[in-house]
Amino acid sequence: MRLLDMIKAAGIVGCGGAGFPTHVKLNGTFEYLIINGAECEPLLRNDRYLMRNHADEIVAATAAIADELSIPHAVIALKGHYHDEVQALKAAVEKNGAKVDVFELESFYPAGDEQTIVYEVTGRVVPPAGLPSQVGAVVNNAATVYAIYQAMSGIPLTRKYMTVTGEVGRPVILNVPVGTPLSYCIEQAGGSKLDDYVVVTGGPMMGKLVKKQDVNTAVVTKTTSGILVLPSDGYHASSAAMDTRRMLIQARAACIQCSYCTQMCPRHMLGHPIEPHRIMRKMAVSIDTGSMLDDSIIRSAQLCCECGICETYACPMGLKPRKINAMLKRELGAAGIRYQRTDEQYSPNPMRDYRKAPTEKVAYRAGVHKYYNYEISDLITAEPDRVDVPLSMHIGAPAQAVVAVGDRVQVGDVIALIPQDKLGACIHASISGRVTAIGDRVTIVKE
Ligand code: SF4
Ligand code: SF4
Repeated sequence: MRLLDMIKAAGIVGCGGAGFPTHVKLNGTFEYLIINGAECEPLLRNDRYLMRNHADEIVAATAAIADELSIPHAVIALKGHYHDEVQALKAAVEKNGAKVDVFELESFYPAGDEQTIVYEVTGRVVPPAGLPSQVGAVVNNAATVYAIYQAMSGIPLTRKYMTVTGEVGRPVILNVPVGTPLSYCIEQAGGSKLDDYVVVTGGPMMGKLVKKQDVNTAVVTKTTSGILVLPSDGYHASSAAMDTRRMLIQARAACIQCSYCTQMCPRHMLGHPIEPHRIMRKMAVSIDTGSMLDDSIIRSAQLCCECGICETYACPMGLKPRKINAMLKRELGAAGIRYQRTDEQYSPNPMRDYRKAPTEKVAYRAGVHKYYNYEISDLITAEPDRVDVPLSMHIGAPAQAVVAVGDRVQVGDVIALIPQDKLGACIHASISGRVTAIGDRVTIVKE
């Protein structure tokens, strides 16, 4: 079987991002294969765990992809200060005689942003709203490449390595089946130290907030990389609670047009025509966004990667340019307005190197520095008695169940397939047991 077919059969999607199906992403011609080991979100440690403990497998899969797709440059990019991981990967490259380079990044956020890492490694700027393939690159996260290694042995993507940290008894790297409830994961890490808390899935900058009352029903998906237990009166909870109208009124009343949000914006620094302070100025004139969707400044919100630097790190007034951009992106998308891609060449801002946000400072501003230096190296492998495997945890159409209630399944069995002629990924049973319910999730209970 061709490698891309193995990846498709294993249901692999980008493990560190939005979950784009990997067999589609790799279907092209590239000069650079970049393995993203930046793990740039403060607090997350799972990719580092994999690079430290499974360096041979990551290097082998990287070399196999480059070989299969005839990609001349294969690069694993991670932060230079990940000393143990850099050493492990270099040793694996040498031991296996692999044609793979190890590229050391500075420690800044968002070093792992796809367009940022492409520039760091290749010196080429991906055009605004463009794809890395436009400059000859394809980027895959380190955990995705580890999943590809397993797919090469016929093992599908059914389990996740995640960081569980914050206000928990024992911060850990956790390996559990897809579909595991978040509450089970928190218990494995010694439970919450707080009675009242919120959970962020992912990193503290771009992760999604889950309320305490939802942790029994919210589950681990193929893209979950972290579970952070945080105080219910902290930055994340209050930021999520702010409604759109209040956010816009604040922008109107308090934006001092200092332009720090623009000066620090990583996409602006790559030379992309996005200037969040100008978007904020427009929003101060009118909070009726519908009448402004034709405006080129408003449309530039589509170039925002929602990294959060502008609101968490840059803005001295505590305003929310990222949230406003996200809102505009939704409205522009709903109106069918797409940013026009171009092949024009862009150059980074000459100040870019001086405007990188150090990761540790970002952790301070995000209110999570308390957990920043936690030593997290222990791995716990666990399995609940019941999983609820979502049929949509990737970009594209939801997978279609091919099992019925009452069926017995073994771990690794296909339970849902990609609908014909659609973008998507197939899904496998993550534990052995009986199918007890099928809706937008397949519930499997151990017998
Ligand atoms: S979230 Fe803010 S800093 Fe990040 S890309 Fe968007 S506008 Fe720029
Ligand atoms: S950093 Fe804050 S105050 Fe300054 S221009 Fe941007 S949104 Fe306005």
